Amino acid sequence: MTPIPEDARPADPKWAVAYLELANGMVMAGAKARLITRFTDVSLNRVRELYRALRGVDPPSGPLMQGKAGFFTRPGKHNSEAWNIQSAIFLACYDRMGKITGQPLHRGWQLLASFTVYLSFTERQHTEMRIKRLDINQAYALLSHARFLSPSAGGDMQRKECPSCRLSYPVAPADPLDTQKCPLCAINSNLNHLTRQGLARAASIASQKSSK
Ligand SMILES: [Zn+2]
Repeated sequence: MTPIPEDARPADPKWAVAYLELANGMVMAGAKARLITRFTDVSLNRVRELYRALRGVDPPSGPLMQGKAGFFTRPGKHNSEAWNIQSAIFLACYDRMGKITGQPLHRGWQLLASFTVYLSFTERQHTEMRIKRLDINQAYALLSHARFLSPSAGGDMQRKECPSCRLSYPVAPADPLDTQKCPLCAINSNLNHLTRQGLARAASIASQKSSK
């Protein structure tokens, strides 16, 4: 996949093939039709045709943005600390991908390239531990909340670095910051708590046996 620079236009014949590659790649990743159109200028009808030709299905329906910033930043009824970590991993991939060339990249290209890296990076967690991953439309929503990580743009999501494990995880500035704890440390402290409980239980069983 040729990196598309930020200033390359889809109408420029020099970049036509790269944009078609991007559209095909986004179809294979399951992006919503509007998202593909926004980033490639390929028409909605053409995107629908690409979906049918490449995958034999219609593009996924529903609105482009889904979920408020809090959907990615705090554990709730439908998500967990592990989900917050997935958001942190994807944002780190996007961040890193932005530095592969000396010049700013096209956002759609950077989205697809970093999403591909994110998928391979989390493959084992997903297959062995059944950890739920972001899909590309959620990754886009996450980036929009974070204003594509441009610090000057504000946005209803920012990142905070954990002082103990150094994970940079997304937080919503609208919510109290001290309640948005590091998800990785939260998982570890849960594990420690469970281990301590298990050890205490084993010890009490052992002492019951020895007192009999
Ligand atoms: Zn931490």
